Amino acid sequence: MRLTHQPPYVGRFAPSPTGPLHFGSLITALASYCEAKSQQGLWHVRIEDTDIPRIYPGSEAHILQCLDAFEFEIDGNILFQKERLDIYEDVLHQLKQQHAIYACQCTRKMLGSNAIYAGTCRSLNLDFAHQAIRVKVDDQPIYFDDALQGTHCSVLTQDLGDFVLKRRDGIINYQLAVVVDDYLQGITHVVRGADLLDNTQRQIWLGQVLGYPKLNYMHLPLAMNANGQKLSKQNMAQALDPKQAPLLLQQANKALHQHPLELDTPARMLKQAIQQWDHSRIPHQMTLTDQVYL
Ligand code: GLU
Repeated sequence: MRLTHQPPYVGRFAPSPTGPLHFGSLITALASYCEAKSQQGLWHVRIEDTDIPRIYPGSEAHILQCLDAFEFEIDGNILFQKERLDIYEDVLHQLKQQHAIYACQCTRKMLGSNAIYAGTCRSLNLDFAHQAIRVKVDDQPIYFDDALQGTHCSVLTQDLGDFVLKRRDGIINYQLAVVVDDYLQGITHVVRGADLLDNTQRQIWLGQVLGYPKLNYMHLPLAMNANGQKLSKQNMAQALDPKQAPLLLQQANKALHQHPLELDTPARMLKQAIQQWDHSRIPHQMTLTDQVYL
């Protein structure tokens, strides 16, 4: 159930337990936290764990341990998407009634390297059981004005085609879960890494099909490793050490080009970070080029 009276700012941090949290995740957590709390908003945490085969053992525990060690004040309960599969199925049912989705039997091999889905199964009226589910897109341009990355526009029929909401193996896709939960949690502002920028039009489209209100977006520049690659779970970015929380907070705050933080307890440092927070200081770039991470 969605609350009817929403506070003006509701933000969130939504890590996937596909690897331990790293310095890039901390930048996202800190920025989304300070944006929300400096505007007297709420900050929710959601664990995006629908993609069971990609879950990395121990990473969920590491996320919770870090949230605790960094002393973030989380509003409400932490939400776990794997406990909400019925909700996503209900939304798929709603979309089916709207004739907005269809079953697709195309295999990865059949699709080959085509980045744009040609709509092969759109008119086949296949049974939904054991097939991938795709949502239909149309050719209206989808715009959004990102607080850091400027205006973006995409025509989904040209750039992507109908996209998958549920995989053939039954896994609910990130695009569906994120849109439904942002709506049900009353999220108003999404602050996340710029690596997710090109998911945004899909999410706006899906939200529009479902009649959800449009969100505000801020995509943060990504921290890079010494080889110029973005820090990610895939390239084995170093896991955050909860025992180093004060130092890591100081570094993440510096990466976001904020006024310096004095070393103290994490709770007091976060308080100072909120008081000093000025999002106009964050570089309007896709990557952080200065070597500010540990
Ligand atoms: N779960 C996604 C990740 O860990 C982030 C989703 C989002 O912020 O929209 O990359």
